[in-house]
Amino acid sequence: MKTGLVYDPIYLEHDTGDHVENSRRLVEAISYLKETGIKEKLTCLSPRPASLEELETIHAPAYISYVKSKAESGGGWLDPDTVISPKSYEAALYAAGGVLVAAEAVMKGKVDNAFALVRPPGHHAVQDQAMGFCIFNNVAIAAKFALSKFKLNHVLIADFDVHHGNGTQDAFYADPQVLYFSTHQYPFYPGTGWMDETGTGEGEGTTVNFPMAAGWGDEECLRAFNEVLVPVARRFQPQLILVSAGFDAHWADHLANMKVTITGFAQMAMILKELAAELCQGRLVFTLEGGYNLRVVAHSIKAVFGVLLGNSEIDDPLGKAPPTRTPERFDEHIEAIKRIHHL
Ligand SMILES: [Zn+2]
Repeated sequence: MKTGLVYDPIYLEHDTGDHVENSRRLVEAISYLKETGIKEKLTCLSPRPASLEELETIHAPAYISYVKSKAESGGGWLDPDTVISPKSYEAALYAAGGVLVAAEAVMKGKVDNAFALVRPPGHHAVQDQAMGFCIFNNVAIAAKFALSKFKLNHVLIADFDVHHGNGTQDAFYADPQVLYFSTHQYPFYPGTGWMDETGTGEGEGTTVNFPMAAGWGDEECLRAFNEVLVPVARRFQPQLILVSAGFDAHWADHLANMKVTITGFAQMAMILKELAAELCQGRLVFTLEGGYNLRVVAHSIKAVFGVLLGNSEIDDPLGKAPPTRTPERFDEHIEAIKRIHHL
C-alpha cells in the first residue's frame, strides 16, 4: 500500500500560545513518526492553499475576509474558544488545501490512502463563524471539492472525534450526496448530534448521529461502526470516504469523558479501510481534528498510519482506562438508532 502524509511547517504558524489546541500536537506526532520509522514508509504530499472559490463552497465571503483581516491586524479571538495569530489565516488556507491535496492524490491513484496532519482543525466551523478551535471546515471543503472536481455523486464523511461535527452536519444537512456519520459524547460541546438529527429534505437520512454516553469506549464505538456505519455505508455506496479523525475520545484526554483506547482508534480505522476496499477501491482520506493529550495523539496517529499501510499489529502503550462502572443501556440505545435509520 502507498499511504500519503500531508504535513507542512506552516501548520505550526497558527500560534495559539498555551491553548490546548497548539502546535506541539503536530510537532510531537511528526517526531514520533520519524522515531518509529513510519515516516520513511509514507509518501509525502505537499499541501497548497485552498482557493477562495474552494473556501466559498462552504463559507460566506464576508466571514473569510473577516478572518483574513483579523489575522492581518495581529490576531485575537474569533469566538470564545478560537484564537488566531498573524499567520493563522495562511495556515488555515493550507489546512483546507492539505485535505484537498490528499483527496486529489487518492482520487488520481497517486497513493492508495492518506492522512492529512493539519491544523487548525475544521469540523465545528460553520458557514459564517469559527467555533471550537476550528476556522475553515477542512473536511467539508474537501467533500465539495471531490464532488465537483471528480464528478462524484456520493461521499461519506465519518467523524469519530469526541465532539459532534456540527459544522460538517450543517453543510450537508439537506444534501443527499454527502452522508455524514458521527460518534460523539452527548450531551456535550457543541450541543448538537442527537440521534433524531437525520437530515432534511432530499438529505433526509444522510445524517447519521450516534451519540455516546460519558464512560463508553471501544466496545460501544466498534459496535456503532459495525452495526450502523457499515450497513449505512453499504446502502449509500460512497465513491470516497473522508474521515474526521479526532483522538479526544481517548480515556486519557482531559477535554472529554469517553474511554476509547489507541487500539480502539486503530480498529475503527481498520473498519473504515475495509469499507473503502469493499465500496470505493480503497479511497480513504483521514484528516486530523481534535485530540489534546500529546502522547495519545502521537501514538494514535502512528497506529492509524500502521493500519493504512497494512500492518496488523497495534502498539498501545497506554492500554485501557482504569476500570469504572459498567456502561448501561447500550443495547436499547443502538436499537433506537437502528430503527431511526431503518436498519
Ligand atoms: Zn473534539
